[in-house]
Amino acid sequence: MTDIDQKKFTKNFTLQEPIGKQGIEKALSILNSGKIHRYNVDEGEKGETALLEEEFAAYMGKKYCLACASCGSAMYLALKSAGVKSGDKVLCNAYTLAPVPGAIENSGADIELVDIVDDYTIDLDDLERKAKKEKNAKWLMLSHMRGHITNMERVVEICNADNLVLIEDCAHTMGASWDGKRSGSFGKVSCFSTQTYKHMNSGEGGLLVTDDPDLIARAIIYSGSYMLYERHTARPPMDVFENINTMVPNYSCRMDNLRAAILRPQLENLNTQCECWNRRYRFLEQGLIQIKGITCPKRDPRENYVGSSIQFSLIDQDETTIKKFLIKCMDQGVELKWFGSEKPVGFTSVYSSWEYFNNLPYLANTKRILATMCDMRIPLTFDIKDCKLILQIIKDVAQTILK
Ligand SMILES: *Cc1c(COP(=O)(O)O)cnc(C)c1O
Repeated sequence: MTDIDQKKFTKNFTLQEPIGKQGIEKALSILNSGKIHRYNVDEGEKGETALLEEEFAAYMGKKYCLACASCGSAMYLALKSAGVKSGDKVLCNAYTLAPVPGAIENSGADIELVDIVDDYTIDLDDLERKAKKEKNAKWLMLSHMRGHITNMERVVEICNADNLVLIEDCAHTMGASWDGKRSGSFGKVSCFSTQTYKHMNSGEGGLLVTDDPDLIARAIIYSGSYMLYERHTARPPMDVFENINTMVPNYSCRMDNLRAAILRPQLENLNTQCECWNRRYRFLEQGLIQIKGITCPKRDPRENYVGSSIQFSLIDQDETTIKKFLIKCMDQGVELKWFGSEKPVGFTSVYSSWEYFNNLPYLANTKRILATMCDMRIPLTFDIKDCKLILQIIKDVAQTILK
């Protein structure tokens, strides 16, 4: 094939859909009112942020919700509110995104990294071993990285047997479920992101949910409620706060009404959006698994994921070949990310680059799996025709480059 008839994909992998009309109108009315701060409400008025919290708690089937500045800050508040103290150990799967170890470090805790298995999820045997071995590891921050959900029944069993408090990072599983139960409803507390590249888009933002009245009261005060926690409506009775209101510092990680206003209509539409992602995901997966040299791990039928990105492995290919493959795809407009790089690049980083932690372990499986894994965003600005062209390009490149 000559360069002339080489296919080229020209759409942008980081372009999200526009904010809908309803969201824009709500945002404009907030701007016109000037009442952007969440506590800037009239007597008896529920602000947009409080309403979003009520609606997201209801969506999740949880009692309480707190809207935060980001998922990273929600995770930090979750750890602090769950009682993590300086010097404690938090277990965490080694394949995740930088804000997750960042939140653990911010809480003063140390990290105990857990290996992963070939379907990119946490190695539950390694988790069990480390939960037993590390006496002061009482927390598990389980990151459902890139939407891959492990066997949650077994996670809960392990946590119960070893007295681990489960905290879920659901940045990529908003709208997903395991065996009919929503991702984020297994843990004591769970965190979601509304950052532009996740399942709802407010630029930045995070949501924390829990059923625990003491935990949410601490999280609300930590988030910077001043003494205005009464204005929250997805909260426990006031006396829960009054016992602790001078004991919990203010870390100022609130969400504002503007963001909440553009998120509320998106929440109404979330399940429909998840179906749109999955149509594209399934189409891509069907195509990818037919390409020689490319493997997509099987997904458990109990996992009802949201395919907002897709991962595949170039098993047995060496680093030079993989780099050539990535460059050639990029030349034709297909942007793939690779977690195998020793140096952090853009949004990706391998666990060994989190050097602010001491004594990071060598995790042979994580290293091996990340070394051949490619990752591609599936923004909803792509349609099935776009996915078709992407597949053709990947196939052509795979045929010329892979060994
Ligand atoms: C994006 C992301 C986060 C954090 O989200 P922010 O809102 O950007 O802080 C956490 N975990 C994972 C796996 C993510 O991809």
